[in-house]
Amino acid sequence: MTLLDGIKVKKELLNELKNKIDTKNIKPSLAVIQIGNDSASNIYIKNKEKTAINLGCKFEHIKFKEDCTEKEILDKIDELNNNNDVDGILVQMPIPKHLNEKTIQNRIISTKDVDGLTDINVGKLINNKKCLVSCTPQGIIKLLEESGVSIPGKNVVIVGRSKLVGKPLISLFLNNDATVTVCHSKTNNLKEFTKNADILVVAVGKKHLITEDMVKKDSVVIDVGINRIDGKLYGDVDYENVKNKVSLITPVPGGVGPMTVAMLLCNVNTVYKNLNNK
Ligand code: NAD
Repeated sequence: MTLLDGIKVKKELLNELKNKIDTKNIKPSLAVIQIGNDSASNIYIKNKEKTAINLGCKFEHIKFKEDCTEKEILDKIDELNNNNDVDGILVQMPIPKHLNEKTIQNRIISTKDVDGLTDINVGKLINNKKCLVSCTPQGIIKLLEESGVSIPGKNVVIVGRSKLVGKPLISLFLNNDATVTVCHSKTNNLKEFTKNADILVVAVGKKHLITEDMVKKDSVVIDVGINRIDGKLYGDVDYENVKNKVSLITPVPGGVGPMTVAMLLCNVNTVYKNLNNK
């Protein structure tokens, strides 16, 4: 078994990006909107801020109270869309139930949508057109590429069909000529699918859903799951028992998570380049 080391690949990617930013003497900027005070969101935003500042980017954290109105958020997004000093815009999920997630995400102009969640970017991805791609799925493909895993012709099984992870991955793997199967909560006999996967990606949010008998020998396993139990982090894969059967596996933490934030900053830099014709 070899580790798919997200921390190492993240460092390499961000070093490369920092060199570009320093050499060009530019300052790409990211604005993050937070609604409410979700504790996991606080950690994720701090992490984004730290990474952005270390790179030499500008970072703006805009906070709204839990009971704010949808209009307040939409007005703020309009202002950021029209502000030439702002490149990337994202709304940290989850947001309070009284707000319409789709309406809010789609208000971000697609050229600044660094989370790749607007209908325009999702549609472009499906049609294999140049676009901003959701960070976690993009990070998974990058991690495989950087680790020398070839995708064309592979039998890829994705467990989970969320719009954040599973669905964009379908397009990304198809666009890379893989044969793709998607499993979800209503799939009967999950194991029949997972045990035939050359590349298995699991994005569910259930500790140790995937056990050793469910994976193919010498396959590649990507564990996206983050399950916080009693202050400890677990993936969706029973890592200790699966790791000796497969050829490559991501740890949790230290696998997909670091790649997500690296791809976000890559997206911010792409927006800067696109908006400034550089
Ligand atoms: P989600 O809740 O939106 O989707 C979960 C998916 O799992 C659904 O499509 C559902 O159909 C499927 N599912 C549920 N139970 C199942 C079962 N028993 N068998 C098969 N499929 C089942 O979640 P999400 O936003 O895609 O996140 C999934 C996990 O990945 C979570 O743990 C989340 O914290 C983590 N995550 C990690 C990163 C990262 O950067 N590492 C990024 C995003 C999400």
